[in-house]
Amino acid sequence: MILCLLWLVVGEVGASSAVAAGAKSESALDQVTAKKPLICIEAGHQAKANLKLEPIAPGSKTMKAKVAGGTSGVFTKKPEYKLTLEVALKLETVLKGKYRIVMVRRTNDVNLSNSERAIVCNEAKADVMIRLHADGSTDPAVKGMTFFYPSSGNELTKPISKPSMDIAKLVSQQVIKETGAKLRGVNARGDLTGFNYTKVPTFLIEMGFMTNKEEDEKMSKADYQDLIVAGIAEGLDAYFKRPKDDK
Ligand SMILES: [Zn+2]
Repeated sequence: MILCLLWLVVGEVGASSAVAAGAKSESALDQVTAKKPLICIEAGHQAKANLKLEPIAPGSKTMKAKVAGGTSGVFTKKPEYKLTLEVALKLETVLKGKYRIVMVRRTNDVNLSNSERAIVCNEAKADVMIRLHADGSTDPAVKGMTFFYPSSGNELTKPISKPSMDIAKLVSQQVIKETGAKLRGVNARGDLTGFNYTKVPTFLIEMGFMTNKEEDEKMSKADYQDLIVAGIAEGLDAYFKRPKDDK
């Protein structure tokens, strides 16, 4: 009987210390993961455009479609919203582990306006919001990549303009290096709803022209998507590793 009681006591002590140890290692893990930068990935557009209007910026009287339909592939017939999600999911896989990730959408069947998408990333307290898009033109010969970041001339986005420009530049260099695509520019925009509601550093990549046969075909290929994703990841790594006085 005494032995039995003793066993119970030891057993209980053993169990409770195991729980304590478990709790301790979990919180240590939380601390480690909390230090990783948080990347919010937004795949542009969605299966059904929402042409209802929303203010272009908080408090603005200028209205713009909540989320436009986007372009589509002349050759692949793929809509932009499918392409952007394919790349977004690849990017999540590559960044996971090194970064914490928030996905604005994981399916095409969503109804999220451009302001709501920005708010998802704001509320997550993302370190960077990445917006994935593809371009379209009436001229089938036009090709190349364009990067956008929020303008410093816009009072709302002024605080995030500089870090956003830094990321956009670093990412553009790496994506161009990986893909060999033509760089059309890294430009500031003050007229994008998605930027005007964003309170965290952000950039938008137009990955190429879906109206250009060559780029349309390329962008749908897994190995070309891998190059885009690798370039974005390298650009982010460079941004988070840049010297302190640059920040
Ligand atoms: Zn788009």
